[in-house]
Amino acid sequence: MEKAVMGDNFSRPTVLKTMVIEPPYPWATDQRARVHSLTQLKGIRVVSGKAKCSDHGHFTVSYNVKEKFREITEFIRNGKEGWNGWAPQPWTIPKPPVCNRKHCRGYCTVIISEKKRAIDWLFLVLGQHVGLCSPAQLRYFCKHNHLPYNGSRLEGLYKVYLTLCKQLHPQETLFDIDPIFLASPSSSSESKT
Ligand SMILES: [Zn+2]
Repeated sequence: MEKAVMGDNFSRPTVLKTMVIEPPYPWATDQRARVHSLTQLKGIRVVSGKAKCSDHGHFTVSYNVKEKFREITEFIRNGKEGWNGWAPQPWTIPKPPVCNRKHCRGYCTVIISEKKRAIDWLFLVLGQHVGLCSPAQLRYFCKHNHLPYNGSRLEGLYKVYLTLCKQLHPQETLFDIDPIFLASPSSSSESKT
């Protein structure tokens, strides 16, 4: 458990945050921005998250963990070499979730927790919705996974996706990030946002 120490302006302690948090989901660990591996997930076959339709309000989206992970693994296997450390299009322009009402023409999006430590990263990666995260949310993930983040959305998303896949399947070298893409944040001067 974490003590609420934020927001106290005059007596801010040196250590603001404890290392361990209350896991926000059964599939999340007690570390910030870290999900369990597939082996640790064991009985969890389906992961659900909340979405919102402009016409019909909130609804639930569920993903089969194995199926979705296989899909994303294949996608990475077929494309990674050509991406050069940048996220490909389906990651930068994520497909919206599909409303559960027939013939709906509303605009749908997934709901991402405003509390950063409660962001459902597994739901986001399986649905390939990570691209809906704000720069601050991506920065948060990178910070807690010791990934350099220079503000480039393309590079940030690339790292976040591969790192999440690596958390799910730590032995899979396909998800390793080439050290040249992990160089110091200031090494890239382009502003690809
Ligand atoms: Zn709808």
